[in-house]
Amino acid sequence: MPTIGTLLSRPARVAPVDTITDIGALSREEIAEALARLGQPRFRAAQVVRWLYGRGVAGFDEMTDLPAELRERLAADYSIDSATIETRQVSRDGTRKYLVRFHDGISVETVGLPDKDRLTVCFSTQAGCAMGCTFCATGRTGLARDLTCGEMVRQVLLVAADFGQRVTNAVAMGQGEPFANYDASIAALRLLNSPDGLGIGARHITVSTCGLPAGIRRFAMEPEQFTLAVSLHSAVQTTRDRLMPGVKGVPLPGLRETLIAYAGSTGRRPTLEYALAAGVNDTDAELAALTSFCRGMLVHVNLIPINPVEGSGLQRTVGDRVRVFRDALQRAGVEASVRVERGVDIDAACGQLRQHQGGTGNAG
Ligand code: SAH
Ligand code: SF4
Repeated sequence: MPTIGTLLSRPARVAPVDTITDIGALSREEIAEALARLGQPRFRAAQVVRWLYGRGVAGFDEMTDLPAELRERLAADYSIDSATIETRQVSRDGTRKYLVRFHDGISVETVGLPDKDRLTVCFSTQAGCAMGCTFCATGRTGLARDLTCGEMVRQVLLVAADFGQRVTNAVAMGQGEPFANYDASIAALRLLNSPDGLGIGARHITVSTCGLPAGIRRFAMEPEQFTLAVSLHSAVQTTRDRLMPGVKGVPLPGLRETLIAYAGSTGRRPTLEYALAAGVNDTDAELAALTSFCRGMLVHVNLIPINPVEGSGLQRTVGDRVRVFRDALQRAGVEASVRVERGVDIDAACGQLRQHQGGTGNAG
């Protein structure tokens, strides 16, 4: 890290500015370590986190309870990179979808879902996604880059400011696969949970994964009571492999064992996401496979008619198949519910978030 001294003594062509790190790339622990290296007392980390994520300041000079010398030193070593709302769309049901742009021009979509005194933010963990799920708008565009923990939390801060309301729930269910960007995602959850950050209760913070077993096993070891959701979408291997090519190598019996171990060691009930597509995963055979996958597991199945995504070739399930699935699961002793859709008219519903790179900001 350059100090003020080294910055001044370097020849200009070395371009030291490029070596300045966005402090948003640091976890809370790394912020504490950096401050300790500067000989600062332990409580400084809480102060810095409070300014960054409790208050959302844009510059170190605003951190008025830090010694001036420390503010200067931090400003020499780190930047606080911008995250700005490029566009905002408001759904008939009050859901708001944002295109949030970062300092390098990369943008992601973030969704705010108000519900009486609750405000849930669905944030992105990557710009795009490499998993290539055929039913998902994000997966159809590939991965642009990972987000830092700061970029994840800044999305939540922007939504809180736009609503002028405290965020009560956060879900890592926007663009990207959180367990493909594990460390930054967990660091973000901790900042969201921290009383110095947004102070959102751990149980009100959910991570949704396409089901990477190593990630689930790691997540089970985290001390916080975060909530886990897994995108299952089919309990038939060939169907799931086709729908979710990124997790083709994950055998369903192994995923099932991992989830049983997760529930066993954490005492927490994971959610299985199941989006129904007509004739693909809503048949009787698929229902039988799903029921036997879930039977005897501590699990909650979230059923949703698949949201239409252009070019996917998938149609949402018709008639009362969603309820047929729910009732059959419940009869088999499996907790199941039908998810209420939000923001479909502005393409803010699950799976409808697209990657925009220097784009126009038009959603969907
Ligand atoms: N990558 C993670 C989290 C982001 S996707 C994951 O896959 O879980 C967010 C949620 O939207 C997941 O549950 C995903 O399965 C679901 N989803 C994606 N496309 C969808 C669609 N077209 N209709 C309904 N849900 C969809
Ligand atoms: Fe990625 Fe999740 Fe979309 Fe699959 S469903 S492409 S894992 S964001």
